[in-house]
Amino acid sequence: MKLANTPITEHQFNNLSFYLKRDDQLHPQFSGNKARKFMALLEGEYPHVRTLIGYGSPQANSLYSMAALAHLKGWQLEFYVDHIPHWLAQKPIGNYQAALALGAKIIAVGESNLHPSQYIETVRQPDESCLFVPEGGRCQLAEYGVSQLGKEIATWVESQPKQNFVVALPSGTGTTALYLHKYLQQHDIPVITCACVGGSAYLTQQFTQLSERSHPQILELSSKHHFGKLYQQDYQIWQQLRHQTGVEFDLLYDPVMWRCLNHWLTEHLDVKLIYIHQGGLLGNASMLPRYQRKYGE
Ligand SMILES: *Cc1c(COP(=O)(O)O)cnc(C)c1O
Repeated sequence: MKLANTPITEHQFNNLSFYLKRDDQLHPQFSGNKARKFMALLEGEYPHVRTLIGYGSPQANSLYSMAALAHLKGWQLEFYVDHIPHWLAQKPIGNYQAALALGAKIIAVGESNLHPSQYIETVRQPDESCLFVPEGGRCQLAEYGVSQLGKEIATWVESQPKQNFVVALPSGTGTTALYLHKYLQQHDIPVITCACVGGSAYLTQQFTQLSERSHPQILELSSKHHFGKLYQQDYQIWQQLRHQTGVEFDLLYDPVMWRCLNHWLTEHLDVKLIYIHQGGLLGNASMLPRYQRKYGE
């Protein structure tokens, strides 16, 4: 199975025209940046592997993407989590529900008092029939698929009249932004990002752990932002985006990047923005009701 070369569409937001790389449309099950990061696993031959092993939050986009990958490859996914919130276990939605539907085994290990990664290492002890992926796909294996994304963008840019293109995408682990920067650097296309988990210093640390010295530029909000918390300004910009572009963005990461860009673009009027839509819309199934309960429609 090959992933599509996703389209780049043009939109208007607050009187600014920008381009959108539609990685949310890579594949009906396997889309967004997790699909890019796991593409090497999708295309590679792993004759000994029967079990894919990962860990993280039971609501993570990476849970669903790993479940889709395992399903496509005929592997069993074992996904280790600290605990499954009672309400989610009672009424599964979003990534959790979709992963269960694809046959994922989601295993809570909190009672062992071990972190899921420690539990995998010391109790589960993966053997040669297992393939282990670090949280959020933060590994060098991701470079292969993210370079492919870079290549698609560079080819498209060459087909356009000369402009000051800048590529923007929000970061969790920063793996996607880092490898995209590494690839697009050779084409003189700058990549900008923002930290959605931890702060900028934490993001820089994550970049450094992947053994790369050259990093994308990190933009910052003027106030502190906590991952997974609800912010009225996030909800507002998400609604404005949907209203003005007709596109649904992700509610966890995209609002932070757009809030940073809103300000940054007023100081960089000569720039033509290419925004990467990294998918994650299943996660909105649990985020949106939380926002609606707190702030209404
Ligand atoms: C996982 C994810 C990110 C963060 O990607 P990193 O490579 O970890 O920085 C951003 N947006 C969406 C929608 C995601 O699912």
